[in-house]
Amino acid sequence: MRVAVMGSTGSIGVSTLDVLSRHPERFQVFALTAHRNVARLREQCVAHRPVFAVVAAEADAAKLALELRAAGVDTKILWGAAALVQIAGHAEVDTVMAAIVGAAGLQSTLEAARAGKRILLANKEALVMSGPLFMQAARAGGAKLIPVDSEHNAIFQCMSGPGSLENGAVAARADQARQGVNRVLLTASGGPFLRVGREALQGVTPDQACAHPRWVMGRKISVDSATLMNKGLELIEACLLFNLPAAKVEVVVHPQSIVHSLVEYCDGSMLAQLGNPDMRTPIAHALGWPDRIGSGVESLDIVKVGRLEFEPPDLERFPCLQLARNAAEAGGTAPAVLNAANEVAVEAFLARRLAFVEIPRIIGAVLAEHSVGSAQPLEDMSLEDIVAADEWARRRAEAQVALATGAYA
Ligand code: NAD
Ligand code: MG
Repeated sequence: MRVAVMGSTGSIGVSTLDVLSRHPERFQVFALTAHRNVARLREQCVAHRPVFAVVAAEADAAKLALELRAAGVDTKILWGAAALVQIAGHAEVDTVMAAIVGAAGLQSTLEAARAGKRILLANKEALVMSGPLFMQAARAGGAKLIPVDSEHNAIFQCMSGPGSLENGAVAARADQARQGVNRVLLTASGGPFLRVGREALQGVTPDQACAHPRWVMGRKISVDSATLMNKGLELIEACLLFNLPAAKVEVVVHPQSIVHSLVEYCDGSMLAQLGNPDMRTPIAHALGWPDRIGSGVESLDIVKVGRLEFEPPDLERFPCLQLARNAAEAGGTAPAVLNAANEVAVEAFLARRLAFVEIPRIIGAVLAEHSVGSAQPLEDMSLEDIVAADEWARRRAEAQVALATGAYA
């Protein structure tokens, strides 16, 4: 199986290469893509010898090509956003690991769907933004969509209806399995500020927000975990992947991060998937599915864990979760607006231009403005509508950030 790892230098990308390297007889690394971390990409090219590698800038591409040639590696180097799309849809690629962070991954992930690839989906923002359009493209293209996000991978594992194994696409498979599904429970670790009071939240720093108690992840998703927007995006992701209304997706805080999510059926059965909090488990599951392959993850010592706790999320301290639920219910371009405003606010927070508690306020303000002006019929939403909503929300969020920081846009 030939695999393209989009976003190979990130946290998911590195874990993916770790799992791939354990199964050289099964997988060939066909392409790797990175944004600016050329040094890490160079090491990965030397280790995995892909046919193609992609970087953002032309100058980086030229330099990398020279260095690799000198090292005896004949990987072809491409650059720019169009090259990402070209790789995701490349005729020789079977499997696309979509692990670029944020809206930057939309075009390539969508191309993989159109081209009927086996898509291992980590890039939740792409799905949240383009929602029904993405699922439609996957269905029309015959893509197999396998969730990598640990919660959705857990749900996927707990929704195995009869005949589901021949049926690749998550959506189609879930359509039948969902018949008896009462609800889905998404577990949330609660992030680093689970026990931090309202007042103290005002002054938290980017480094504090990125120090996640259970998972080691990229900075953007770490901040999302601290605001609970990550769970909000995942709520929307679950509705789309498993064709469920938002009302059937509940969020429950589970600080140990051992139960990765649960599915409740109409007979009262509740199925859960458990494991150590290590993304190599869902990555290996998605890579191997329907087979099971080794991941390198340590065996879970359930006796040592001892206690599994569950509690409701605090929507007052973490309003992002409610904002996301509202956007899921509104549908159309609301999730794209939510995502774009969040990306802008998180970037401003990481750049120390914005206080942590301002993140939900800004997203809420942009969403409120959007709901006033968005009366378009949403069934026939196009990619252009989504891109326009994304750009509009970024401008509005930037203006809000400027206001919040006292400068005027
Ligand atoms: P990361 O920041 O560690 O890595 C992001 C990758 O995307 C890097 O390879 C980077 O080079 C690339 N990238 C960034 N901007 C780009 C751009 N403009 N164009 C092209 N490439 C670009 O992020 P991550 O933590 O690995 O997360 C990746 C995705 O997986 C996100 O959508 C995240 O929500 C999702 N995810 C991550 C985890 C996790 O444990 N890290 C868990 C579940 C889901
Ligand atoms: Mg997750």
